[in-house]
Amino acid sequence: MPGLESVSEWTRGYLGGTRDLLIGGEWVPAQSGRRFEVIDPASEDVIANVAEGAAADVDLAVKAARRAFESPAWARMPGAERARLIWALADRLEAEAEKIAELETLDNGMPIGVARGAVVPLSADVFRYMAGWATKLEGRTIPLDVPPQPDAEFFAYTLRQPIGVVGQIVPWNFPLFMTSWKVAPALATGCTIVLKPAEQTPLTALFLGELMTEVGFPDGVINVVPGFGETAGAALADHPDVDKVTFTGSTEVGRQIVRASAGNLKKVALELGGKSPNIVFDDADLPAAIAGSADAVFFNAGQNCVAGARLFVQEGAYDELVAGLAERAAALRVGPGLAPDSEVGPLVSAEQLERVTGYMGAATEEGAKLVAGGGRLGERGFFVEPTILTDVAPDMRFMREEIFGPVVGVTRFTDLDDLVARANDTAFGLAAGIWTRDVSRVHKLAPRLDVGTVWVNTYSLNASALPFGGFKQSGWGKELGEEGVSSYLQTKSVCIGL
Ligand code: ADP
Repeated sequence: MPGLESVSEWTRGYLGGTRDLLIGGEWVPAQSGRRFEVIDPASEDVIANVAEGAAADVDLAVKAARRAFESPAWARMPGAERARLIWALADRLEAEAEKIAELETLDNGMPIGVARGAVVPLSADVFRYMAGWATKLEGRTIPLDVPPQPDAEFFAYTLRQPIGVVGQIVPWNFPLFMTSWKVAPALATGCTIVLKPAEQTPLTALFLGELMTEVGFPDGVINVVPGFGETAGAALADHPDVDKVTFTGSTEVGRQIVRASAGNLKKVALELGGKSPNIVFDDADLPAAIAGSADAVFFNAGQNCVAGARLFVQEGAYDELVAGLAERAAALRVGPGLAPDSEVGPLVSAEQLERVTGYMGAATEEGAKLVAGGGRLGERGFFVEPTILTDVAPDMRFMREEIFGPVVGVTRFTDLDDLVARANDTAFGLAAGIWTRDVSRVHKLAPRLDVGTVWVNTYSLNASALPFGGFKQSGWGKELGEEGVSSYLQTKSVCIGL
């Protein structure tokens, strides 16, 4: 199995080095002196030791971020200069694609081709897109007509100002990409950041911190504090001097963040779980629908918040679609991310392996029928089989809860109203897919799905300009696009009596 010996000398050196916290422009050990192990999910080997931040370190990082927020070097930096730095960072990410890809694959397990060919260019694109906004943060002039004072004249306008110190809590499924969604708009708007990567995947966040220092962001604009959710993450959500916390992760932790944020009523943005319906109509281009539906749930080993985990297929296409999907599942090459031909890597951790295989077992016990996969692959590394279940009922546990693994439940439909009711019968509302050639049907159906994103004849497409975020218990607020930028700004009204 390709492992550490197959990566570059640079990567081995980086992993072997002292990976400390970035606070106020300095690399420092945790106050407690503690460190935690980083595991390669393909080999289960320990590949690095990282300083373990906790409340005391978060406090120092927040102080550094506050100083940076108030410093003339950042607060008075022209938007064009922020844009230049952000653009330079995007260039550095691309220049270091190979290093980033190796770190991301060793840390998260994803195929190196995905890390190199998708994660790096997409992340760089988010930074470039957001760089453009740094010079376009405009308020408005607002004509006022105030009834009790008919003769008075006013001049009123709005200013849009950065929210301040932002705590950013990031998940492990797409470490760098999810980080770029949060860091890029915060920089574009002039906020400062305390970034807490997931304990499973801290490496590319630390490297991003290095690159930001190198391109010339002032000290303290970004602070990177790896650590555990219950300690470092909770301290950030609770901190009285953090103005906003933005979180991507499970719905359960999202609720804890909301509770923790109540002390100083900090602003909260949440991108949470999903159980997304993916809908295939009879008239769809079936080969495309099969490939797309497989990708929708098997990509990144299903560790994807938008995974199309509930597949609804119209009666006439059902048999062909299930057969095609099963063929695709069996053909997918599951293996170590560093092996060039792997299409699906391991799950991120032993904990995830236990969770996902637990759901697989419970599904068949509840009466679902296994059409493909169903369990762990091999004995070393956290690999699981792409799994397809039919004969599923909406109240089965695996059809209601987010699994975060390559598991899809397939069910058939005939009537459109019944389909809509079933698709919406979930606490989540992140995304949905529709496969059809009927344009009119698309426009009628898309508004009826209670989700933040509808993909038609494609799936999982995220673009920097497209707002992303969930309805219902899938989140609060949007990331990316203009709305994503606005979420790091607050509007001030200025009213002048003339
Ligand atoms: P998962 O359960 O799939 O690991 P989480 O939602 O727990 O996903 O993790 C996403 C991020 O949230 C990680 O960075 C994790 O450390 C952090 N986190 C977990 N628990 C908490 C918490 N109580 N407060 C703040 N952050 C947390």
